[in-house]
Amino acid sequence: VATLAIRNAIGGDVFVEGPVEATIDATGCRVVPGFVDLQCNGGWGVDFTTEPERAAEVAARLPETGVTAFCPTIITAPPDVMLHAIKVLDLLRHSSPGARSLGVHVEGPFLNPGRAGAHPVRHIRPPSREEAGQWAATGGVAMVTLAPELHGAFDVITHLTSRGIVVSCGHSEISVPVLEEAVRVGVTAATHLYNAMGSMSARMPGTAGAVLANRSLYVGLIADGLHVDPAMVSIAFKALGSRLFLVSDAISALGLEPGTHRIGGMEVTVGEGGPRTADGVLAGSVLRMDEAVRNLAAFTGCSIDEAIAAASTIPASVLGVSQDDRVLLDADNRVAATVISGQVVFDRDGRAG
Ligand code: ZN
Repeated sequence: VATLAIRNAIGGDVFVEGPVEATIDATGCRVVPGFVDLQCNGGWGVDFTTEPERAAEVAARLPETGVTAFCPTIITAPPDVMLHAIKVLDLLRHSSPGARSLGVHVEGPFLNPGRAGAHPVRHIRPPSREEAGQWAATGGVAMVTLAPELHGAFDVITHLTSRGIVVSCGHSEISVPVLEEAVRVGVTAATHLYNAMGSMSARMPGTAGAVLANRSLYVGLIADGLHVDPAMVSIAFKALGSRLFLVSDAISALGLEPGTHRIGGMEVTVGEGGPRTADGVLAGSVLRMDEAVRNLAAFTGCSIDEAIAAASTIPASVLGVSQDDRVLLDADNRVAATVISGQVVFDRDGRAG
């Protein structure tokens, strides 16, 4: 086995196993775990739901943002479109180079129609064990976001978790007692806290309050400063600590110039206020994971190490996978280089020898 030597890093040299003997100069950088994005709908002009064949283009670019592993995420669409995307995206798990796919995140179609967000309401449908069974049978699904309060959802949750698939509560109006029940049935995560869920007030905890009060759930959050007010991010970090994880929820417009783009067959305009549908609804983000890390530290006052954990080791734990890839962060916590499977796949400054 060969070794990649990461030399002169703040905190000392780091050695990782790789395919060939190699060295990279990490002067002025910290070596941190690679970022794991459990909710990424696409980027660089590619939408995973409608153009799964182009997913490798996104995997090749994600290391620039510090992402070394991710769940290509598809949203609500007709059954044949979703199943096709799952099958095609499964091929990505066995291809390289670039960020590794950990399996598809299926967000929808079993969502509360009252909390559709940017999902097309006409394609939202009641939980179907048959459809979920088809996804599970591909072996390519890692995670499913659904609304557990829907009739038939518990049956689907039981089936998915028995196949090792993580089920996350999202696009939901679930109450405190029903969420507790859903957790007993197998739900272990919640999807983009505060967004597309019942909001919180003094006598009505809503879904956001139920998620924050729960003592076991891992909770995803979009820390772009647009989806969630920084004060609410701070509250989430205080309540959840090491159960809070960052997601990008990035769409095809990630990495592109502002203007009009497509997500899931829908027109989306990217401007100062993030990507919006024609009705002005936020349709995912153009957030980079390294930016999310810097934002979390800025919004909450947490240490940069805590923010890095929320983007790396914590999301890895949600799926129960280990994280051996590395990112070199410079003094401004920007990505200088990215190492996947012992290979330098992104090298901003030409540090690899
Ligand atoms: Zn969503």
